Amino acid sequence: MPNPYQNAMTQLEKVSKIKNFGDEFIQRLQQPNRDIRFSIPVKMDNGAIKIFEGYRVEYNNALGPYKGGIRYHPETEINEVKALAFLMTIKCAVAGIPMGGGKGGITVDPKKLSKGELERLSRGWVKQLADVLGPHKDVPAPDVNTTPEIMAWMADEFEKITGDKTRATFTGKPVDKGGSEGRGAATGLGGFYVFDTLREKINLPKKCKVAIQGFGNVGANAAHVFAENGHQVIAVSDSKSAIWNEVGLDLNKVEEHKKNTGGLKDFPGAKNITNAELLELSCDLLIPAAFENVITDANANKIKARAILELANGPITPEGDEILFQKGIPVIPDVLANSGGVTVSYFEWEQNLKNEHWSEEEVVKKLKPMMEDASQKMFQIAGEAKTYLRLGAFILALERIKGKMGG
Ligand code: NAD
Repeated sequence: MPNPYQNAMTQLEKVSKIKNFGDEFIQRLQQPNRDIRFSIPVKMDNGAIKIFEGYRVEYNNALGPYKGGIRYHPETEINEVKALAFLMTIKCAVAGIPMGGGKGGITVDPKKLSKGELERLSRGWVKQLADVLGPHKDVPAPDVNTTPEIMAWMADEFEKITGDKTRATFTGKPVDKGGSEGRGAATGLGGFYVFDTLREKINLPKKCKVAIQGFGNVGANAAHVFAENGHQVIAVSDSKSAIWNEVGLDLNKVEEHKKNTGGLKDFPGAKNITNAELLELSCDLLIPAAFENVITDANANKIKARAILELANGPITPEGDEILFQKGIPVIPDVLANSGGVTVSYFEWEQNLKNEHWSEEEVVKKLKPMMEDASQKMFQIAGEAKTYLRLGAFILALERIKGKMGG
């Protein structure tokens, strides 16, 4: 498996070959401002103390407080957290929000913990970091396996330790505990606005056939938005199976089937296919919305989609990217395509600081122009630099960061 931090640095290197940002600036971005690793002792239900390894990487705060999720996963390790923190730095800058980049995590399989153990672990993460977190310093959010409930425990722990009552130190909280309306659907919806802004520019038809890998929060929300806007979702998948119907799937029925049977397999009227086959379907738009490194030098040549919208983080390796570019398949990169989530997290932070609560309509009204503006700028920069969209997004981000950092 490629080292995710090396992948991220490869992208940075590629950009610095296209546009001269100066060696000093690039060197500063090759390392995080700080990476914090610590032990979290947790009293388990059987009375024993177990030590977990926790992380917070504060990558860059030129544009504002560090912002980024906390991942709970048995394979989470420092290189992954560093890579994700770097990508958050780029993502916040591309989206045009006044936030820097950070990421956190714990090496843990949360499914093996009881609810009480999970709560003590989450509060333990905050105890170790209370000094460095804060609404104007570092603002974590949920990521893989961290939920609104976990964010609420963390916000509560932070308030207990520091007395800060703004609730603005953690985003992704439940709505009744200071969360924002519209956060759940924000990533899929933001991705749609990005796609819609670029659709004609990348020569896609008005009515696209769309294949989506991953049918979780992001993938399922995106599927609905695309279908509601007249596109045909022809294939979806989850970790166990994939289904395909050339003339489009009825998404409500798919959800009902998944609920009743525990999976997508054998959905009436659709053909069972494999996840690999889904990625290689003939379609207008392929949306990887599951996890990283699914399109690599091993399968990029087999991709038949006319364009790709990356809603997952890092679904395409740098080698895969290069092959797709040679094949003329435009890739709308994760740092822009899935930035609707962090943008609404930023709205949550702003609402908490101002002690306001915006309606979902207000949230959507603010999100749309931001996504459109970033998409247009990225497209223009990539065109001017004669490069692919990902590097256009990186150039846009680096220009904004350099504008604040100087150097
Ligand atoms: P999720 O856990 O809700 O959904 C993930 C989906 O992927 C599930 O349907 C799961 O069954 C499927 N999946 C897992 N393994 C798979 C496999 N081997 N093959 C095919 N499908 C598989 O997660 P999510 O929040 O929807 O996040 C998905 C991706 O989007 C991740 O890369 C995440 O980092 C990224 N992302 C999420 C958000 C957000 O707001 N949730 C924001 C930005 C980026």
